[in-house]
Amino acid sequence: MPKTIYLDHSATTKVHPTVLEAMTPYFQEEYGNPSSLHHKGRVIRQALETARGQIAKYLHCDDKEIIFTSGGTEADNLALFGVAQALKSKGNHIITSAVEHHAILNTCSQLKKNGVDVTILPVDKYGLISPAELKKAIRPETILISIMYANNEIGTIEPIAEIGQIARQSKITFQTDAVQAIGKTRIDLSKLPVDLLTMSAHKIYGPKGIGALYIRKGTRLAAQQFGGHHEFRKRAGTENVAFIIGFAKAIELVHQNLESDNKKIAELRDRLQNGITKNIPEVLVNGHPTERIPNLLNVSFKYVEGEGIILNLDSSGICVSSGSACTSESLEASHVLSAMGVPTETAHGSIRFSLGIENTAAEIDFTVDCLVKVIDKLRQMSPLYKKK
Ligand SMILES: *Cc1c(COP(=O)(O)O)cnc(C)c1O
Repeated sequence: MPKTIYLDHSATTKVHPTVLEAMTPYFQEEYGNPSSLHHKGRVIRQALETARGQIAKYLHCDDKEIIFTSGGTEADNLALFGVAQALKSKGNHIITSAVEHHAILNTCSQLKKNGVDVTILPVDKYGLISPAELKKAIRPETILISIMYANNEIGTIEPIAEIGQIARQSKITFQTDAVQAIGKTRIDLSKLPVDLLTMSAHKIYGPKGIGALYIRKGTRLAAQQFGGHHEFRKRAGTENVAFIIGFAKAIELVHQNLESDNKKIAELRDRLQNGITKNIPEVLVNGHPTERIPNLLNVSFKYVEGEGIILNLDSSGICVSSGSACTSESLEASHVLSAMGVPTETAHGSIRFSLGIENTAAEIDFTVDCLVKVIDKLRQMSPLYKKK
């Protein structure tokens, strides 16, 4: 077995060697500033615009609709603050869901402090929002709907096309955080009724610290950062060219073999799921059984603590997480599982396995073997298990 079995691709991924290779010249050879008029700048401007065009091509949108940011978090912040500010005179009500990433939920909390009213839609036991509930939540002063494409803890895919239709009918701007969906599903923005879409490179074998916000032409959004006239005046600051080049290469690579990679990864995910459910009693698979991205499996192991599982697996070289990387530092139960009605004790014993292109069947089998031992050991020590 390799020293590390990495099953935490929803937290971040290793930079693909081809991505790194594409980025390398832009540190020392082509170091110009894309805003400079001389040849060193012009070369970079062209490379930057080619990268933008590549990303736009895979999303079926216009180049000018892609705005580079420092990552998914910044894109989410820009979308929410940007729309809230631009449409202030129209209304002050935003609708989101209880299972969003903290980049959305905590931005909403901040907006609330600025006087924006926020409705947080509930989800069903699979983590799906209800389009009927969404319709009921819409008010004359609703300016924005923000619902994620695919959930980062459970993998459930929300009914984005249907939500978009509802938003269109009510003339409300619709933003979706697609950080976990990009590279798992093909997104066609010429058909999908989405106005703003968040992306991040480091979840798709690109570098950390670069992402983008798709802003559909005509969408009103106020810049949140001021300086030069970069990024169509939507986001000031010299562009992170090398990382943008890497991001574009990563987008290209994940789309090249998307269907076959998905198939291979889903098979491994199923192997893991079957291995766990067949060999370990009292487990619960969280998330939608079919409407889900292929690489993610969330399982609750009753009567044990997630932290204990993580640390025990880690000592065998296996990297997994409990819910999201952001929640794992706190002892709160996952807000996603809580919203789905998973009891707190059960939620505490939940583990997210997220697979990637390099994982193998042997790694999955080894992980299942380790899990069987770890769960048994932890349950023997668990007062909850003994009381049962
Ligand atoms: C990782 C993630 C983010 C944050 O993206 P960063 O580039 O790390 O800032 C936002 N939303 C979702 C769903 C994510 O999984």
